[in-house]
Amino acid sequence: MSIRELDTAYVAGTYKRFPVEIVRGKGSVVEDVNGKKYIDMGSGIGVTSFGIADDVWQQAVIDQISQVQHMSNLYYTEPCARLAQMLCARTGMKKVFFSNSGAEANECAIKVARKYAAEHKGAEYSTIITLENSFHGRTLTTLSATGQAHYHELFQPLTPGFVHVPAGDTDALCKAAQEHKIAAVLIECIQGEGGVVPLDAEYVKALAAFTKDNDILLMVDEVQTGNGRTGALYAYMNYGLQPDVVSTAKGLAGGLPLGATLLSEKVQNVLGYGDHGSTFGGNPVSCAAACSILSRIDDALLAEVREKSAYVFGTLSKAEGVEAVSGMGLMIGIKTKKPVAEVVAACIEKGVLCLSAKDKLRLLPALNIPTDVLQEAIGIIKEVIAE
Ligand SMILES: *Cc1c(COP(=O)(O)O)cnc(C)c1O
Repeated sequence: MSIRELDTAYVAGTYKRFPVEIVRGKGSVVEDVNGKKYIDMGSGIGVTSFGIADDVWQQAVIDQISQVQHMSNLYYTEPCARLAQMLCARTGMKKVFFSNSGAEANECAIKVARKYAAEHKGAEYSTIITLENSFHGRTLTTLSATGQAHYHELFQPLTPGFVHVPAGDTDALCKAAQEHKIAAVLIECIQGEGGVVPLDAEYVKALAAFTKDNDILLMVDEVQTGNGRTGALYAYMNYGLQPDVVSTAKGLAGGLPLGATLLSEKVQNVLGYGDHGSTFGGNPVSCAAACSILSRIDDALLAEVREKSAYVFGTLSKAEGVEAVSGMGLMIGIKTKKPVAEVVAACIEKGVLCLSAKDKLRLLPALNIPTDVLQEAIGIIKEVIAE
């Protein structure tokens, strides 16, 4: 049986996969079972921050895996402690809880918000406001947080205590806060799965002021936008925000599962012994990988991300067949005249792997994609879009 046949026979059918069987790769180029090469413009949905099998990342993983691959959270291990220190030093946050995925990082944020509100305002202040068109994960609670009804339909009853308001509408936010007892607001600065839609800067400013004035926690979901993706270490930094809680995952460990929930001074001690936990959370190999990744996301790399971003925006904004380009850094959405499914399929044919989000083509290349490789991919994408 081929990989594809085996997978179809035995793996639960939750993913509509493309007919591509990847066996290896290096950097931003991957190779399929037939030896065909593809430029990877999706990096595993913003996960392989420095590409596939990057030498420095790989060495960090090998070094740690040969020392200790896992201990329970009953004992101390260095990578976990060091990564928490690095995250706090880079963000000004005070404590970190480690998990394994974006959904879990958000679950932790939600638990922190509920407990903080219960202790400071009363247990009835349990509602969390999220935005329409948002995406926060697939667990039942993060699904409830997600402001897209089509994800909800088949999985009722969902976790209660979430209200969704339209992005950009300050009045709707105020109204929701009058009608419900609110613990927190949870936002993505750029809605990723929602179609690479950045929030309006004025709206974000108003929302931040509103949460501060009303003793509501401001929580930012940086699962997709975090770790250099937008040309800042975290996207909230582009907006001048000071969130109370930040969740991140995807690109943090460069291709190993790791989620992190960053807690500001205000909420740093909300979680106590036994309040939360995760067997794999803070895994030494994932954390060693993340230490390596985070140490390389420096000012020079972020400047490079912004430069490459400017090149893509500049090239595609005025290209034939393009209606609009949105996003920030190397998180880019392209509204094309042609249906996006056709564009993605034609790109695969021509050796470029792209993502989509809603009706947009979505590009999330590795942060260190070489300029010539990026240019080649954009050239092919441009050709496909124009046809
Ligand atoms: C991908 C994503 C998640 C979910 O992350 P998982 O690791 O799949 O659980 C949550 N929030 C945002 C903004 C995401 O992009």
